Amino acid sequence: MAAALQLPSYLEQSPEVAARFERLRQRPVALEVSGLTKTFETTRGTVTALSDVSFSVHKREFMCVIGPSGCGKSTLARVLAGLEAPTSGDVRVYGQPVSGPGPDRGMVFQSYTLFPWQTVKQNVMFGPLMAGASRNSAESEARQWIELVGLTKFENAYPQQLSGGMKQRVAIARALANQPRVLFMDEPFGALDAQTRCQMQSHLLDIWKNVDITIVFITHDLDEAVFLSDRILVLDPHPGRVREMIEVPVPRPRHNDQLFEPSFMAVRKHIDNLIHPPGQEHHKESPVLRLVARDPDIV
Ligand code: ADP
Repeated sequence: MAAALQLPSYLEQSPEVAARFERLRQRPVALEVSGLTKTFETTRGTVTALSDVSFSVHKREFMCVIGPSGCGKSTLARVLAGLEAPTSGDVRVYGQPVSGPGPDRGMVFQSYTLFPWQTVKQNVMFGPLMAGASRNSAESEARQWIELVGLTKFENAYPQQLSGGMKQRVAIARALANQPRVLFMDEPFGALDAQTRCQMQSHLLDIWKNVDITIVFITHDLDEAVFLSDRILVLDPHPGRVREMIEVPVPRPRHNDQLFEPSFMAVRKHIDNLIHPPGQEHHKESPVLRLVARDPDIV
């Protein structure tokens, strides 16, 4: 029988990773959430979706929010985007209080939010046109974002002619064309098949490298969270509270082979234990798939 894999502590960081976090902490705060509580009045009483959630995200950071279903992830995304008002607490983007949707924040959802009657280019031009750009400048701006997401050949295609991954690339280009300072992504790859999802994760990191944008990405997929993030915010369910903010010890640039590296497996195992405390593997309220540390011998 193979010996159990000895993993390092998820807190262990190489000097390069530690230096990167040191630099990250010195960047301006892009998003600041303070004492955020959100309750809903329902026929069955008051539901507290988020309770006293506080955290901050630095400029050009990539942060993932993870937690079991029902822990308030989507509510958090909607409040951050200004689509829902908090019951109490405060959300600020570069110091400015959020009181509704605004061009400083972009959103990409799991469901495709493209206009089906418009081409790729028209979908991406929509934001700049609404912001008052001339047709010519909206078109050249749209082309630049479409090129960034690798869809130049499809700029005249309609959404129904595209695959799921391509539609999400258009959704990203469309969100970026509004020049937001923070991009919120709520399970954007949740509806994609596993292979396309992996490709989109790498593609998103490439886009992030080339654009001055801070990303808050909501997911319930552990591999996805570790692969993408600088830090991961783990939410506890019922009501959603901050359980832990974790610095991912995996170096950048990220690549798929890192899934088998000890630092990757250590942080993933730690989050898995937080989300699925030992003895609660079959807890009805936590329908997140139970993942185990990968054994490179089992392929
Ligand atoms: P997640 O995205 O993590 O699955 P949600 O943010 O969708 O969690 O939901 C968190 C909690 O808030 C759940 O108990 C859910 O039933 C409740 N909730 C979310 N939106 C509403 C709403 N509009 N009205 C009542 N309850 C809601």
